[in-house]
Amino acid sequence: MFSYRHAFHAGNHADVLKHTTLIALMKYLTQKDTALTVIDTHAGAGLYRLDGDYTETSGEAQEGIFRLLSEPKAAPAPAKKAPAAPKTVAPAALAPLLQDYVDLLRGLNPQFAETGDIAHLKIYPGSPFIEQQFLSGRDKLKLFELHPTDFKSLSGNIEQLGVGRQVAVAREDGFEALKTFLPPPARRAMVLCDPSYEMKSDYGRVAACMADALKRFATGTYVVWYPIIPRPEAHDLPRKLKTLAVKSSRSWLNATLTVKSSKLTTDTSGEVVRPGLPASGMFVINPPHTLKAGLQAALPQMVALLGQDRNAGFTLEHGG
Ligand code: SAM
Repeated sequence: MFSYRHAFHAGNHADVLKHTTLIALMKYLTQKDTALTVIDTHAGAGLYRLDGDYTETSGEAQEGIFRLLSEPKAAPAPAKKAPAAPKTVAPAALAPLLQDYVDLLRGLNPQFAETGDIAHLKIYPGSPFIEQQFLSGRDKLKLFELHPTDFKSLSGNIEQLGVGRQVAVAREDGFEALKTFLPPPARRAMVLCDPSYEMKSDYGRVAACMADALKRFATGTYVVWYPIIPRPEAHDLPRKLKTLAVKSSRSWLNATLTVKSSKLTTDTSGEVVRPGLPASGMFVINPPHTLKAGLQAALPQMVALLGQDRNAGFTLEHGG
């Protein structure tokens, strides 16, 4: 347990999908006058350095945020099931959801904002910082992180914001802690459940946690990130969440982004090369009615800008 550190993955293609969707959700949900409680069950460290040891070692941000912001490139031929993607996407023509994501990165990286040079993109926000940016005085943010080092970083990063008790950080199991906050005082909540899935049991815990949350508070917006990998538990999770939403008579949305093949390859010396994470998904229960159209515009651009081979594509399903 606890070998996972999000710093190795910050700004990768899964973060692009997750954080673009999260921004759209936060932007919509914080428009109303009633207080919103945001609960992030697996918060991570909150802020990451893109020029730090972890991110440089893994290079995952190169396949994510840096690729997205690089010069427009020819899109790979999309997979059969995916709708046709535009050939190129000029930065000026980014879909509104992606533009909001890039604008948020600009806000955290003034030199990048000023020059447009991605060499100056050094700070990457995790979900806690994205959520915090949208809060107004009446809203609350509850963050849970179990890893001792990441908890310490998260606490320090949040303290620097000087936002007092509006944001609470706890070193607790997010699956369990969620129960104590539902239903929220003003009966408006968004929950992000974004485990590392480093333990197989996380898949079952996500499904059980969402089932319990819906019983406690049926009208909350519940957001689950999941990896798309050749593993039965990973394959079953979105199906389980869909069944749960349908049985609870709740609307749902499921967006997936694939950037490359999941097949193992061999390098010139005959060594087997694992492709890394090829795809991921965001499952949202009780999504705002605007989310589908927003993603419909953003996902083809993500495919065009982040796709690495002919397997690149997206899916967008909804119901209820
Ligand atoms: N949500 C973050 C973001 O988007 O920036 C990334 C979170 S990362 C994928 C998952 C985090 O959950 C890791 O930092 C890990 O240490 C933490 N974690 C693992 N199991 C946990 C649990 N049961 N409760 C709370 N945190 C947990």
